Amino acid sequence: MPSDPELETRGRLIRGLGALREMLPGSFVERKRACGRPNCHCSDGKSLHTQYVISLLVEGKPKTFNIPARLVEQVRQKVAMRHRFDAAAASICGINLRRFLKEKEQP
Ligand SMILES: [Zn+2]
Repeated sequence: MPSDPELETRGRLIRGLGALREMLPGSFVERKRACGRPNCHCSDGKSLHTQYVISLLVEGKPKTFNIPARLVEQVRQKVAMRHRFDAAAASICGINLRRFLKEKEQP
């Protein structure tokens, strides 16, 4: 049983990562666009269509992927998982760095 509160925090963070296994990369972006059909309500340039995309770099190049309406909420949550994963990784690394620096100082 680790009595060190940092080790308990680290363990809790590690155990939480499994719940993020469905994470997706990139940013969740809402875009407004005109579809181009002359008789559509969007042709006034104001009541545009809402479109959701994942925006990310693929091999260094910016890409966007359309998200079908039925998957929007799911994808929004999966992209948010990536941010929680990154935050957890940063916390774990911070704990380990402090432990390394402490250990280094010991004779
Ligand atoms: Zn339209």
